[in-house]
Amino acid sequence: MENRCNVLSECELLKDLFDKVRVINPLNNEIVDLPHEGVTVSKSKCYNIWKRKSMCENCISIRAFNENKTFIKVEYKDARIYSVTATPTNKNGERYVIECIKDITESMLIDEMGSISIDDIYNKIKKLNELVITDELTGCYNRRYLNERLPLEISESQENGEGLSIVVMDIDNFKNINDKYSHQVGDYVLKEIGKIIRDNIRKEYDWVSRFGGEEFLIAFKNIDNENALRSTERIRKTIEAYKFIYNDLDINVTASFGVVELSDEINEMNALIAAADKNLYKAKELGKNMIIK
Ligand code: GH3
Ligand code: MG
Ligand code: MG
Repeated sequence: MENRCNVLSECELLKDLFDKVRVINPLNNEIVDLPHEGVTVSKSKCYNIWKRKSMCENCISIRAFNENKTFIKVEYKDARIYSVTATPTNKNGERYVIECIKDITESMLIDEMGSISIDDIYNKIKKLNELVITDELTGCYNRRYLNERLPLEISESQENGEGLSIVVMDIDNFKNINDKYSHQVGDYVLKEIGKIIRDNIRKEYDWVSRFGGEEFLIAFKNIDNENALRSTERIRKTIEAYKFIYNDLDINVTASFGVVELSDEINEMNALIAAADKNLYKAKELGKNMIIK
């Protein structure tokens, strides 16, 4: 109880400094319901404040939680700019994140910036937020995004009783492509593969991250395993048939896939990835350019 009060009094102090202070459980995007005046008591999800229907792509609360450090980002809503600070806290044996939000529109001295409009600033903020979670070469999400997003996808799918399948994909004989043609050609192939995958998944549900050098992880959300397999087969076939043309070079590329479905037995991130990896390994052993589930 005493620890709980500490969280509250800390929040009280912070409330003098910020416009909104809330305690968040980033594992389920919930605003912790602490029964005390002045502290946000809400059943809504933390991202609703930004008028979003799903978690912020650049969620600093889960980052603060995972890395046990304070993170800051800038957000934008209704032509106002906000700073958001996420600080991990450990009280009463429970881990939370304290999120402090401040409207900084006036402090940005936009009037004095002359030609820079609030929309320009917003676009820059958006770019910055995207950069943090994007793989520079392929334009897919990066490993950090995967680590932050996948545990949430798992708990959300379990909560809603929806299907979730993950696919680990690895380009076949990629070392040969680098050795035979050059590293630049290898990079070109990686970029094109990133595009092919993004073009063949549903934007509103699925996502892909560059998992390693020439490996990608695709999450198929809100879908049964049969349909996830169908989409994976479409990606496999598209890569196999795609004309990878670099200058005058015509390069053949294939990839192998390991697929696994969220289940009662395989129900957390590392177990899912390990199971998908095992299937990928089988696909490689059996001759590559195939999907194993
Ligand atoms: P397998 O079919 O068994 O997957 O064989 P492979 O040759 O694809 O696998 P291997 O792991 O031997 O090679 C992966 C290579 O990917 C080695 C590494 O040099 C290359 N690689 C990793 N990251 C990059 C990158 O960003 N750009 C380029 N061009 N190559 C990369
Ligand atoms: Mg590999
Ligand atoms: Mg490979």
